[in-house]
Amino acid sequence: MRTADVLVIGAGPCGLFQVFELGLLGLNAIVVEALEQPGGQCAELYPQKPIFDIPAIPEISGAQLTQSLLRQIAPFKAQFCFGERIEQLEPRGERFWLRGNKGTEFDVAAVVIAAGAGAFQPVRLKLEGIERLEGDQLFYAVKDRAQFQGKDLLVFGGGDSALDWVMALVSEARSVVLVHRSERFRAQPALVEQMHALCEQGRMRFVAGRASDYRLSDGRLTAVELTDSEGRTRWQEADSLLVFFGMVPDPGPVKHWGLAMDANQLQVDTERFETSLPGVFAIGDINTYPGKKKLILSGFHEAALAAFAIKSRLEPGKKVHLQYTTTSPLLRRRLGVD
Ligand code: FAD
Repeated sequence: MRTADVLVIGAGPCGLFQVFELGLLGLNAIVVEALEQPGGQCAELYPQKPIFDIPAIPEISGAQLTQSLLRQIAPFKAQFCFGERIEQLEPRGERFWLRGNKGTEFDVAAVVIAAGAGAFQPVRLKLEGIERLEGDQLFYAVKDRAQFQGKDLLVFGGGDSALDWVMALVSEARSVVLVHRSERFRAQPALVEQMHALCEQGRMRFVAGRASDYRLSDGRLTAVELTDSEGRTRWQEADSLLVFFGMVPDPGPVKHWGLAMDANQLQVDTERFETSLPGVFAIGDINTYPGKKKLILSGFHEAALAAFAIKSRLEPGKKVHLQYTTTSPLLRRRLGVD
């Protein structure tokens, strides 16, 4: 069982900044994120695109904003739990019990849901029954590159991730075939050039097409049928599949926790950003209230007020004073600057 004062669901920009606001008030946090890395939409959907409306930062990319937030919250030493999706949330007395899809359990005094549009999930290969191969012969991310050593590998996708992993694994796998629906790639042109060069050297192959069927022998994948744009099919031997079709947010789990919602958004008040379940707060794109704007700066403001509300909930009867980071010795100590 993992414990902390507060569990933050989601490591998007708002979830990360929540750690900072809690830390200033002396509360520690554990952040649980479905993806393997922080940053939410900024990291997943537009890492290299510039954002122009973060106060006092004229221009910053999604990836840089994530790195800056991580630097800013570092003094508070939050625990991070990546690659785990919170699926269950229940009040237990004064505290909350949560459980992730991998079975990790959490016991905390308050919860902040900063789940954005939902938990990011990989877009899956659409072939009937193929999900039974997941984690064994079918993968949507690389955790341990050694598992592809000596394999006949098919990599699906036309973005940076697919091509990056083709380059990284071409020397380790026995054979590598990249499959993408057309000759047009979303990946950076330099990566596409490198891939074509490897094909010319005979170190890998590229097939324009899609997977249309697969063959098992004794329950093990042995080949995949590929169909090109003209409908021609061919079988390609393979014992490992790596699929990079991108990520889509799934609003699923949040909907099942019995909290008041408006469509896919959690209803909150604008003083505490608390949901219909006292002790459970919601900030960022996941919440709704009159006048809500889905902007990062709105989520930052919400994080500050939610932190104050959590502090007063955890220490009832005690006034929570507003202090400035410029002048408060206590805050400066917490920030590690004095
Ligand atoms: P997200 O960034 O969506 O992060 C939520 C995180 O929670 C995700 O990583 C998700 O995997 C995780 N999660 C969800 N459910 C669970 C669960 N059950 N368990 C574990 N983890 C979970 N905003 C601006 O202010 N300025 C801009 O210029 C701007 N440009 C944008 C450009 C694009 C292309 C897009 C798509 C958005 C843009 N936005 C912009 C909007 C901005 O990205 C969002 O407002 C912001 O990301 C919301 O942050 P968040 O932390 O609430 O949620």
